Amino acid sequence: MNSIDFDKQHIWHPYTSAVNPLPCYEVTGAQGAELTLASGETVVDGMSSWWAAIHGYNHPELNAAAHQQIDAFSHVMFGGLTHAPAVSLCRRLLEMVPAGLQRVFLADSGSVSVEVAIKMAIQYWACQGRSEKHRIVSPRNGYHGDTFAAMSVCDPVNGMHSLFSSVLSKQIFAPAPQTRFGQTFSEDDILPLQELFEQHHHEMAALILEPIVQGAGGMRMYHPEYLRRCRQLCDTYDVLLICDEIATGFGRTGKLFACEHADISPDILCLGKALTGGYMTLAATLCTEDVAQGVCQGEPGVFMHGPTYMGNPLACAVAGASLAIIQTGAWQQQVARIERQLQATLPACLNLPAVADVRILGAIGVVETRQPVDVARIQKHFIKAGVWIRPFGKLVYIMPPYIISEAQLQQLTDAIYRALS
Ligand code: PMP
Repeated sequence: MNSIDFDKQHIWHPYTSAVNPLPCYEVTGAQGAELTLASGETVVDGMSSWWAAIHGYNHPELNAAAHQQIDAFSHVMFGGLTHAPAVSLCRRLLEMVPAGLQRVFLADSGSVSVEVAIKMAIQYWACQGRSEKHRIVSPRNGYHGDTFAAMSVCDPVNGMHSLFSSVLSKQIFAPAPQTRFGQTFSEDDILPLQELFEQHHHEMAALILEPIVQGAGGMRMYHPEYLRRCRQLCDTYDVLLICDEIATGFGRTGKLFACEHADISPDILCLGKALTGGYMTLAATLCTEDVAQGVCQGEPGVFMHGPTYMGNPLACAVAGASLAIIQTGAWQQQVARIERQLQATLPACLNLPAVADVRILGAIGVVETRQPVDVARIQKHFIKAGVWIRPFGKLVYIMPPYIISEAQLQQLTDAIYRALS
């Protein structure tokens, strides 16, 4: 049986049927902003492997960091042990993140970092003798991961809450922010959330949201004032603010962290995806000194979470090297250049009858169609056009590696225009 047939019969892939899956393409190599397929074709990568591979594939500095660490040691338990890759990574992280965040919990994936954030928030209030503050509020159209606590704060419709209603925690949902990034902020936008805070603050542990860009829940870019007001509401009503920057972190929106568009800092911050430059899974949940002190005060005095691969040295070494590249600051010109080129090319899609909307922020370009796209069909077209773009629902979107060339980006936007023509 060849690889593709074996894969089809035995291996689950994300968000597709196991018994009747969408087609799948075998990758044999990846270099810079391109993937090589088993067919011999190369395709320009529009997805950065789901926001992660920001520096491109097979990067010499990331490779060197991985090689160097693997020759020293690949993993040791983090219980009672520490190592230079973790310490050096966390030092760099604390130099970069919004002010006030002081403590780092290294987690294995974005979803786990969200679990950790929610657990921290609930334990924080329980340790202050306020265990009634255990619910999480979240705007609709959010996405925070696929594990159960993370799923409970995803958009109830997109997140298929009805399937799991008997086991999901009942969280509090606010309407999604409506004022778009770049529009004039409408005061009406924050009122429903404000009312929820007035009614429910006594039972609310935290507000969780994706700052500025709601990703997998709709690829929506909203006004920074909404985020500023969220910070104010949390302060006024004694509710922790959790910012999920798993997708937006490390420059993607044109700021190092999307929180910076609103000049706010969260109490808890989740990072992942691009943290290792797309090399392996690693995430982090950061919190303020106040949150850490609160979680660890009284009984039980500890935070009961400790994944086997917590602080994996290999992942930390590569993440450290990735952050070192970010700290050179080159991402700023790269992301600005991508944004300018997207602004110059993607809006042409608005002339197509199939297209409902075009949205651009930083190195993110989104074309929303009027009808859901036929993924298998459009994918075939994209491969023929030499690009890797994976749409979902009505969203054809790209967030390419920052190192993508002008010609490669042009190939992506041309392919989108032609596919939707
Ligand atoms: N939060 C956000 C905003 C995400 O985009 C994702 C991943 N798509 C997650 C959380 C979950 O991360 P992971 O897939 O690494 O568990």
